[in-house]
Amino acid sequence: MSICEIVVASGKGGTGKTFIASNLAYFLAKSNHNVIAIDADVEAPDLLLALGGAKGILWKNEYYGAEVPIIDYKRCMKCWKCIEACRFEALRKGERGPIVDYNSCEGLGVCGLVCPVDAISFKPRRTGLLYAAYSSLDILVITGELDLGGKNSGRLVYELKRKAYDLGKKLDVEYLIVDAAPGIGCPVISSLVGASLLIIVVEPTPQSIKGAQRLLTLAKLLDIRSVLVLNKYDLNPGYLGKAASLLGVPVLGKIRYDEMVVSAYTSMTPILMLAPGSAVSRELKTTFERLMGLLT
Ligand code: SF4
Ligand code: SF4
Repeated sequence: MSICEIVVASGKGGTGKTFIASNLAYFLAKSNHNVIAIDADVEAPDLLLALGGAKGILWKNEYYGAEVPIIDYKRCMKCWKCIEACRFEALRKGERGPIVDYNSCEGLGVCGLVCPVDAISFKPRRTGLLYAAYSSLDILVITGELDLGGKNSGRLVYELKRKAYDLGKKLDVEYLIVDAAPGIGCPVISSLVGASLLIIVVEPTPQSIKGAQRLLTLAKLLDIRSVLVLNKYDLNPGYLGKAASLLGVPVLGKIRYDEMVVSAYTSMTPILMLAPGSAVSRELKTTFERLMGLLT
C-alpha cells in the first residue's frame, strides 16, 4: 500500500496551519487510520505540543547537515586565494593563515577547491536534531529542530520525510500529515516534493492571499494537486469568497473563528477532542470527511 502524503502549508505564518494539521492527524487517528504527523517547521516546531506533548521518545539523532572548512596552518602559504574565492566573506586574513567565520560559511567548499596546497579540509557540522515521539494522544510525530544559526533547513526537512517514509513502510502507515514551515523557502519546497496533496490554509487578509498565491505557484511547478481551507472565514467572509476565486483552487472547507481554538492551543489539545460538539469542530469534521472523499 502506498503512503498518502498530505502537506498543510500557507505561504505565510499565523494562518492556522498547525491547527489544521494537528486536528487532521487526530481525526485520522480516531477514524482508525494509521498516521504519522511530521513537523517540517524546523525553525519553530510545535506540532508535537499541539498533539499533547511527548509521551515517549522513539529515537533521537543529531543531524549533520553541513560541512565546514578546517585550515591546516602548517601547509598554508598565505596566498589568500581562498579569501578571494569566498562569496560569503566567511574568511579573513590571520597571522597563520585564513580564519573562518563559521556563522557566515555556507560550506559549499569553493575555498578547498582553489587552495593550491590542499591546506583546507572539511568536517561535518551539526545543524539540528531529528526525533520521533509518541504524543500523549498516541499519535506518532516525527519532528526536527534546527540549531541556532543552523543552515540547510531544507535538507533537514528532506531527512525528516525520508525517515518518516522508512518508518511508515515498517508500520503500514496510510497517511503522512506534514505541517510545513511558513513562506515558500527551502523547507517548504522539501515538504512539497513528492506530496500527494497540498492543503493551503488561508485567512481573510490580503497578506495571507498573497502568500497563498506564491505557494500555489510553487505547487503548480511541482505538479501537486491543491485545495483550500478558508480559516477564520467569518472575520471577512466576502473577502475570502473573492480570494477563493482569485486563487482558482477548490475549497475543501471553511472554518470559523472561535476563541476556543486558543484554549485548545494553550491546553495542548486538538479542538476536535476538547470541544467535539462545537461549531468549529463540526466544520473541521465536514472538511476532513470531504478530504477523505477526495482521496478515495
Ligand atoms: S566553504 Fe564556501 S563559504 Fe565557507 S569559507 Fe569556504 S568558500 Fe567561504
Ligand atoms: S588558499 Fe590555501 S594556501 Fe592559500 S591562504 Fe588559503 S588555505 Fe592558505
